Amino acid sequence: MSKSYLESTPDENGFFGKFGGSFIPPVLEQPFADITQAYKELKDSPEFIKELKYVRKHYQGRPTPISFAKNLTELCGGAKIYLKREDLNHTGAHKLNHCMAEVILAKHLGKTKVIAETGAGQHGVALATAAAYFGLECEIHMGEVDIAKEHPNVVRMKILGANVIPATHGLKTLKEAVDSAFDSYVPQADKAIYCIGSVVGPHPFPMMVRDFQSVVGHEAKEQFFEHENNLPDAVVACVGGGSNAMGIFAGFIDDKEVELHGVEPMGRGEKLGEHAATLTYGEEGVMHGFNSIMLKDENGEPAPVYSIGSGIDYPSVGPEHAYLQSIGRTTVGLCNDEEAVDAFYKLSQLEGIIPALESAHAVGYAMKLAKTLGKDKTILINLSGRGDKDIDFVVDNYPIPNAKF
Ligand SMILES: *Cc1c(COP(=O)(O)O)cnc(C)c1O
Repeated sequence: MSKSYLESTPDENGFFGKFGGSFIPPVLEQPFADITQAYKELKDSPEFIKELKYVRKHYQGRPTPISFAKNLTELCGGAKIYLKREDLNHTGAHKLNHCMAEVILAKHLGKTKVIAETGAGQHGVALATAAAYFGLECEIHMGEVDIAKEHPNVVRMKILGANVIPATHGLKTLKEAVDSAFDSYVPQADKAIYCIGSVVGPHPFPMMVRDFQSVVGHEAKEQFFEHENNLPDAVVACVGGGSNAMGIFAGFIDDKEVELHGVEPMGRGEKLGEHAATLTYGEEGVMHGFNSIMLKDENGEPAPVYSIGSGIDYPSVGPEHAYLQSIGRTTVGLCNDEEAVDAFYKLSQLEGIIPALESAHAVGYAMKLAKTLGKDKTILINLSGRGDKDIDFVVDNYPIPNAKF
């Protein structure tokens, strides 16, 4: 029997086709080789699997359910819309799926500290939570602009015992937070591990984070059968780095009849700097230690990016997404700020679920897609997180619609 997609991709060196790999300074080669080795040992170890299963079930709240969005489906008048409820994870997003596992790996390597970047603060909160649970020190780098915008998450990280370090250069958002975290990690690599927040970065992170997130897709496949006794016709997820999307795609990737849609943020418009639609407008390039598709400025440097969703405004994208797009396995969709805010309020007022602004991009796109499909079709959205972190920002900038739709 031929190997499944997940078993055979990426290759030994972390390449998904020509994308991925590891482009790192020599001082980091050994630490990354150690991480790769530790992951190889752990992933098939019964104790590791048992520990991860235990924390997922008894601490994180897995499995998360799938909900039928009846009223949203009626509003759109087409395909039936279902939601995989990653918003119900402890800490409010899918991020804890890989953070708990990364911290177990850190412990296995004898590290005493975890370091990471964060955009909206979700990864920072999730990692600070995992570090608190397992008793490790935690250092989180965050752009100054995001610190101002995502105040509640900054406070949460501090309460959880993390040290929050502002990234003060450039646009002061996610890309700069990654730069800052890398710089801080290099001299501390003997006692610390860099816990990347998505399916990005040098090998083995894109593979490892995907594998840790694949629990979402494997659960979803089984649960969707309970609802429909069938596979979904389309699976939709927002793509920043691409971890929640790869997590849910992983459950369906060998089922060729299931369309996989990754949704990128179109922000305020098509002009460079006004969006973060990397797969749509980008070109091949190396950034943050891996080869993928990236948005470049006129000098070939990472371009400024923007989205209302702080967790998805990144000028590169996970290499596996670049690969899957290149072989035609995935479809790349778009959702702009306005459509995301509309979806944010519609899901809140019609379904009683306040989504994260990032997840609202998947919902906004799925609403457009549903309208083009017949009532016999089904769409499964990965609702990557809840919107509590975004409520002040949204109501201050976009008035609450009080008319019923
Ligand atoms: C971080 C985050 C994202 C973006 O990260 P991916 O790696 O692209 O999944 C999306 N949704 C939520 C709620 C997040 O916190």
